[in-house]
Amino acid sequence: MSVTAWLDAATARIAAAQGLEKREARLEARVLAAFAWGVTPAWLIAHDRDTPTDAQIAAADALLTRRLAGEPIAYLVGAREFYGRPFEVSPAVLIPRPDTELLVELALAHMPPGQAVEVLDLGTGSGCIAITLALERPLAQVTALDRSPAALAVARRNAARLDAEVEFLSSDWFAALGGRHFDLIVGNPPYIAAGDPHLNRGDIRFEPLTALAAGRDGLDDLRRLTATACAHLKPGGALLLEHGYDQADAVQALLRASGFHSPRSWTDLSGVRRVSGGHLSE
Ligand code: GLN
Repeated sequence: MSVTAWLDAATARIAAAQGLEKREARLEARVLAAFAWGVTPAWLIAHDRDTPTDAQIAAADALLTRRLAGEPIAYLVGAREFYGRPFEVSPAVLIPRPDTELLVELALAHMPPGQAVEVLDLGTGSGCIAITLALERPLAQVTALDRSPAALAVARRNAARLDAEVEFLSSDWFAALGGRHFDLIVGNPPYIAAGDPHLNRGDIRFEPLTALAAGRDGLDDLRRLTATACAHLKPGGALLLEHGYDQADAVQALLRASGFHSPRSWTDLSGVRRVSGGHLSE
């Protein structure tokens, strides 16, 4: 069986199983074959008539079977790109989303280059937010916390591999922070309502539920974070939180109730109000 024959067959099966366009299914088939055979997707194109060994076919088939059962591509290959850099991911962490790059952009706008701003990332997961901020603003002092030891291990490996200086803390939200204060606090907390049918669809089924679901209305963690963040911000400090597509008004109200000034929301690439934030008075 040639490289092309394997890719054609895999593309058809992925498209049928995942309800994807042929073009997207082909991309997935290429990613799986490239990973299974330790080659680049470009190699596959240049070597389309090569005949992989039986062992190579078996390795690619094994990944394909898992993909057909719904496992996310990012977990199958153990990586996902975020803000132009490759991050290791495992089922212990949420797969970084392009939506979250909006939160990163807004955070960077609050971090003037050349200043040693102190920044905290709540529920760092893979570490994608904290590590990106540390790499984009080398003078910033970035702290990242998570309550999951397995997630922290992934985040620490990402920081080491990407050469980012981030302080990692094992902490259930602010619990282990003592009296520390920051200029900026950011986070992409769980915000899906516990009964939301999306939790039973697609990639999300394989991601850690604790990273996704937050009580009956999805606002449990956002309520906790808005209420407690002021105690860990310096005067004039800012809080930026990612949230669900329909939660901007609720999060703005929570920010206002906790003493944040002029709360506002920002729109992501799909036109959804995806991040809200406010600041304390000087
Ligand atoms: N901070 C990580 C991310 O944005 C993890 C977020 C989470 O697990 N809810 O991808």
